[in-house]
Amino acid sequence: MIIEDNIETFNSLLKRRGFIWGPSPEIYGGLAGFYSYGPAGMALKNNILTLFRRELRAFGFGEVECPTIMPEIVWKASGHLERFIDPVLKCEKCDTLVRADKFLQESFPDLMIDGMSYEKMQDLIHNNELKCQKCDTPFGKIEEYNLMLKTEVGAGNIAYLRPETATTTYLLFNRLDQDTRKQYPVKVFQYGKAYRNEISPRQQVLRMRAFDQFELQLFIGKDQEMDFEDYEAIKKVKMPLLDWRLQEQHVDTPKMISSEEALNKKILKKPAYAYCLHLAFYLTKILGYPDEIIRFRQHSPNERAHYADDAWDLEIKTTQFGWVEICGVHDRTDYDLKRHGEFSNQNFEISMGNDPKKKEIPQILEIAFGPDRIIYTLLECAFTVEEAGKENRIVLKLIPELAPNTLAIFPLKKNNAQLTALAKNIYKSMIEARIISFYDEKGAIGKLYRRQDELGTPFCITVDHQSLEDNTVTLRDRDSMQQIRLNVSELSKHVKTKII
Ligand SMILES: [Zn+2]
Repeated sequence: MIIEDNIETFNSLLKRRGFIWGPSPEIYGGLAGFYSYGPAGMALKNNILTLFRRELRAFGFGEVECPTIMPEIVWKASGHLERFIDPVLKCEKCDTLVRADKFLQESFPDLMIDGMSYEKMQDLIHNNELKCQKCDTPFGKIEEYNLMLKTEVGAGNIAYLRPETATTTYLLFNRLDQDTRKQYPVKVFQYGKAYRNEISPRQQVLRMRAFDQFELQLFIGKDQEMDFEDYEAIKKVKMPLLDWRLQEQHVDTPKMISSEEALNKKILKKPAYAYCLHLAFYLTKILGYPDEIIRFRQHSPNERAHYADDAWDLEIKTTQFGWVEICGVHDRTDYDLKRHGEFSNQNFEISMGNDPKKKEIPQILEIAFGPDRIIYTLLECAFTVEEAGKENRIVLKLIPELAPNTLAIFPLKKNNAQLTALAKNIYKSMIEARIISFYDEKGAIGKLYRRQDELGTPFCITVDHQSLEDNTVTLRDRDSMQQIRLNVSELSKHVKTKII
């Protein structure tokens, strides 16, 4: 994890090594809330997605992909047009626009602003005569600002860019019901872009106007939520839970509790929901986050959406931005399917148990990951600076599966034709074995190592004079910096055992 002194070094590394660039488009000055990923950033993102997809297939989830633009009626039904709004304050003199809740939280750090009614916020502003920070004009009334990005399709048909992937997945419900032959719970996920017209996006890729979502849904019966088969296997696993009652007592460290204990103590209500928390925790842990920077924070009844029965955020502790939500687990009840049934005149009632006469609209449990936030927080917690002689050594300690390059190959001397030829041959054979490898000869050996350390490459191979004689090379481990001598014929096997 980065220490305060190294934040600048970390932020410049993100740009310098091709992880994150922006705001985009940089050559035109950049538009706030839009960022690009460079080759290293995309390699990291793809490795995360590959890992998630592989795991979710094993857990019985199917993947879908829907359009990112949907007609107005979808967002009327979902409630987004009416409720997906931020309270804002607009300065009458200089047109500065600020989010009222964020502005109040900064002005009154000890007050709980989340979930506060607009009237109460208005009173706070009025009674304390809060003013525009730019021109000192007193703020007037709180206005509502919708976060949806509007567009037109064809000749004047109003449509919106989706603010989440989830809604577009719900719309497939009757197709999924048939496709899975009514095997409940139906487990499905969608990865893709979503768009929110944030008023003043800050915090780099943590709050963008165009961002990625990776959202999982369980369509499930009410009885099944309470009597859930997969719960038995995970009920003893402990998770770092910080429920809202603890937060009321100003506690911010979670308690390690098993699902079973949390249900007994009524911190959680449903075994199927506990299973979703567990799955979110499992998917987070396999990315390599250390335990001590992960917590689940429960939303207070005021903070959560009006239809939600329960909501917990999985948060990662960062140096630069404090606790950052990378995933939300939501019990959305039957709200969404009810609404879309009404607005589309479809009957979503189905029989889920043994009695064909007993029909119900399925409940939805949801696990929503923000891949951009995963990328940022992973990079921050992998970033280390070690003292090494005159210059510090910067190392990204990503788990080997996630590193942009798995292997780097260098000739010890770049002007020796025999050495470079052998090194290039080894590089080719590694690529043929589908090990993501990188060949480099530009610089002294120490510099070549340092470049790969900054990218998180777990293994580096050096080809030297002995290699020409006995076909062995040195393999250096990124974290221990230990070097071992290996025969070239053993290389791919050795590396593959470390990454799978
Ligand atoms: Zn002003």
